[in-house]
Amino acid sequence: MSQTVSKVRTAKLELYRKKGKIHAKATAGRFNTLRWAMVWLTQAVFYGACWLTWSADGLERQAVWFDIAHEKFYLFDLVLWPQDALLLAIALILAATALFLVTALAGRLFCGFACPQTVYTMIFSWIEAKVEGDHLARLKLDQSPPGLRKFGLRLIKHGLWLALAGWTAITFVGYFTPIRELLPAVRHWAVGPWEGFWLIFYAAFTYVQAGLAREAVCQHMCPYSRFQGVMFDETTRSVSYDTQRSDCIDCGICVQVCPTGIDIRDGLQYPCINCGLCADACDEVMVKIASPTGLIRFASERELAGRPPPRGWRQRPRVAAYAGLLVVFALLGAWTVATRPLLRVDVLRDRGALLRETAEGRIENAYTLKLMNLAEAPRDFTVEVSGLPGLEIVGERHFASEPGSIRAVSLTVSAPGDSELRGIQPISFHIKARQDPASELVEPSSFALGR
Ligand code: SF4
Ligand code: SF4
Repeated sequence: MSQTVSKVRTAKLELYRKKGKIHAKATAGRFNTLRWAMVWLTQAVFYGACWLTWSADGLERQAVWFDIAHEKFYLFDLVLWPQDALLLAIALILAATALFLVTALAGRLFCGFACPQTVYTMIFSWIEAKVEGDHLARLKLDQSPPGLRKFGLRLIKHGLWLALAGWTAITFVGYFTPIRELLPAVRHWAVGPWEGFWLIFYAAFTYVQAGLAREAVCQHMCPYSRFQGVMFDETTRSVSYDTQRSDCIDCGICVQVCPTGIDIRDGLQYPCINCGLCADACDEVMVKIASPTGLIRFASERELAGRPPPRGWRQRPRVAAYAGLLVVFALLGAWTVATRPLLRVDVLRDRGALLRETAEGRIENAYTLKLMNLAEAPRDFTVEVSGLPGLEIVGERHFASEPGSIRAVSLTVSAPGDSELRGIQPISFHIKARQDPASELVEPSSFALGR
């Protein structure tokens, strides 16, 4: 008897999960609503942020802009330079730790709700459903012989997909080349070689990943699905089928709505992206048969085994560790941003001549100072020198600097030649901005006094 049931179940579901493309049935419910909310939120940020402008020192520029040519990243008021690589490292660690924390708490929540693959697959599937109809209509169309209607529908669908993929690529490149300059260039295809490459590559990538590959990416290409299990513990709440209950009527709807075509009743599987659509669909069935909802729900192994929920952080060491790391790196990032200097200086000794003696018997050394004004405002710098008796700068020591610029200045430093000190002696350059005299930068260097 149970064998017969199993055979019927397999035959029923084969259509959805084994043969060809998966056409998931549309479903409604709280998880579906949450997923669409995430689509709107993430895409409003992605498609919208490149259009925002920001005024700094009377100049208007794109608010979020990776200016590769000038090695700067603009994020509203914050301008990051290659010297701020530490911040990038902290941001990456923060993102990874947040992902680990979310996974330890609720499984592959990121995959099901915010991963770009999921988000674009949802949008592309929505377009497909609008053009070709619901899952049954799409299955019928797939199986129908070639004809004018099929060709027309496919043409419209792929045309819309390509248009969206193209716009996505323009938006992506628009974070590197200001989008208001990029658009007219794209219109006349007067873009540079790198822009051209990325426009074509990113459009093709989006079209293939979200339109053609879809669930295959989650099932066969995503490395995260392979190692996410190490972040799970018995308290991790992921989408699960409650085997203790006997309410399943084997309707198969949970499989029909699954975007990766799996049967959650077979237990936790790596292709499951934790989207909750099967839970939404099953809840609807449970309501119809007047059984309690939650036959499929976000539940932990512990909960499904009927054990009490964990009490305190001690019973959730993994979650506590990830949360602790997240707080530490968030504070470290905030501190790094708050205290990052707006002036950086590289001192280079003149390699040509180590020292020179003047007619007055003084010894002079030549230097080049690279003054990096990281502020988005012009600044005037004053340079002083210390470390030896009678040490002084010969000539100009005040230098004006443009906003966000690097200025190389040549300096001559002089010391009395009758000093008892000899050889290479340590000295320091002191640089401060007139606009911010309280913060002084001290750069160590050396002075050659001769033998
Ligand atoms: S939707 Fe619910 S009732 Fe229907 S097969 Fe899936 S688990 Fe069983
Ligand atoms: S099994 Fe359920 S939660 Fe997992 S991918 Fe399929 S529909 Fe989403």
